[in-house]
Amino acid sequence: MHEVELATHVLKALHQISADQRARVLEVNLRAGEINEPSSLRLWLKKLGGDEFNSTRFNIVRVPIMIKCKCGYSGEAKSLDTHLPEPELGIACPKCGGHGVSLTSGTELEIVNVKLEKGVQKRRMRKSR
Ligand SMILES: [Zn+2]
Repeated sequence: MHEVELATHVLKALHQISADQRARVLEVNLRAGEINEPSSLRLWLKKLGGDEFNSTRFNIVRVPIMIKCKCGYSGEAKSLDTHLPEPELGIACPKCGGHGVSLTSGTELEIVNVKLEKGVQKRRMRKSR
């Protein structure tokens, strides 16, 4: 249920932006590592978003899990046991099957940008001539 925590975290940040700008959030672009299960994350964002975000569109770009292994392998890792409390422990090296791996990407979760009902143009500062 790692994604519930992440979804709550994202929604809190969005709520803050929305309150600061006094505008509804229309669209959010996120980057989420595969370890955060992007499709499940999207469902939770919808579910936990409630009325405030029921018309918000969540676009999620998936970032693949890349690892470096003690055996010398470096690249994408596909096997992932997401039932573990710390999913990164479930990643095995596709070359040697070992777990002595370190992640170089795939754990990120960031809000790239947010489109608000109003204030999109507001953010663009015009230079005076
Ligand atoms: Zn290996």
